[in-house]
Amino acid sequence: MSAGDWLRTFPGVLGNEPLARHSQFGVGGPAQWFITTRDATVLGDVLRRCAGSGVTVTMIGAGSNTLISDDGIDGLVVRHNDRRLRVVDDHTVELGAGCMMPRVALDCASRGLAGVEFGIGVPGTCGASVYGNAGAFGTEIADVLIDCTSLEPSGSPVTLTADACDFGYRHSRFKDDLRANAIVSARLRVHADDPGKVRERTDSIQAERKASQPYGIRSLGSVFKNPPGDKAGRLIEAAGLKGRRSGGAQISPKHANFIVNVDHATAADVLHLVGVAHDTVRGRFGIDLEQEIIVLGRHGAGEQRG
Ligand SMILES: Cc1cc2nc3c(=O)[nH]c(=O)nc-3n(C[C@H](O)[C@H](O)[C@H](O)COP(=O)(O)OP(=O)(O)OC[C@H]3O[C@@H](n4cnc5c(N)ncnc54)[C@H](O)[C@@H]3O)c2cc1C
Repeated sequence: MSAGDWLRTFPGVLGNEPLARHSQFGVGGPAQWFITTRDATVLGDVLRRCAGSGVTVTMIGAGSNTLISDDGIDGLVVRHNDRRLRVVDDHTVELGAGCMMPRVALDCASRGLAGVEFGIGVPGTCGASVYGNAGAFGTEIADVLIDCTSLEPSGSPVTLTADACDFGYRHSRFKDDLRANAIVSARLRVHADDPGKVRERTDSIQAERKASQPYGIRSLGSVFKNPPGDKAGRLIEAAGLKGRRSGGAQISPKHANFIVNVDHATAADVLHLVGVAHDTVRGRFGIDLEQEIIVLGRHGAGEQRG
């Protein structure tokens, strides 16, 4: 009997599930165990059982910011896919962690609710966007979050206000002391406005994104954080790396801070390019770029929950 034997018979759990099919980037080896949940009570039960039996839990969203190892992820990978959006009142929307931010932006626009237009530029889930304080075009989650609820490994819910989340540039406590928590929902602040005007602003963010970033091709978003006073994309481009390829991965010819999956890329291809970009920029400009993408899995180069 091994520690996670209960997983073999737990409803909905899949063994040896290819994660490439759960990642927008289309890369990643198998999860030892995988489950999609929609109900926080089920998720709480799963987390409690994992904690009790020594099974490592890794949360994933849409996989738009995460490079999953070619060797896969040990333990249980969980996608909490609650996509419910509830308008509480003219000032508040409540979102399940699985809501996709572009959908949230469009739904709010059609209901005449302003404040979350930036979501159109963040092709990931609400839960992961709280985790990484996602932001686009001048607004980030920290600016609009009222509070969020996560489950501790014991399954107990904890609700934190935005102030208690310790948000920073692509940072929250969920990357730190709360890294073992699973975010299940968030309440965002909105305000009433003319639906046409909200939609116009949403469309203009989308148009700007399409003009400046690779669109319609698999990528992981910004690979590196912008260093103070500069742009990672500008530095990588100035280092002459735009268009550089490694296997099926390429530094985007359109925006040098994006790596695109042009032809069945592997995680190893991407990590090679990340290393080349980092080392070349350090060598040429003396700047140590900090990775924004999250690396999950067995190669141990990135973050693993436990
Ligand atoms: C073309 C493109 C453009 C992008 N533009 C932007 C942008 O402008 N601004 C921006 O901020 N980002 C951008 N991104 C990155 C990405 O969309 C965001 O970081 C998004 O918030 C990630 O969501 P996800 O669901 O894909 O997360 P994933 O990549 O699946 O996961 C990201 C992290 O969140 C954790 N996580 C996921 N779900 C939960 C949960 N329920 N509880 C706890 N932890 C969880 C995972 O363990 C992982 O560490 C872009 C990506 C692409 C592909």
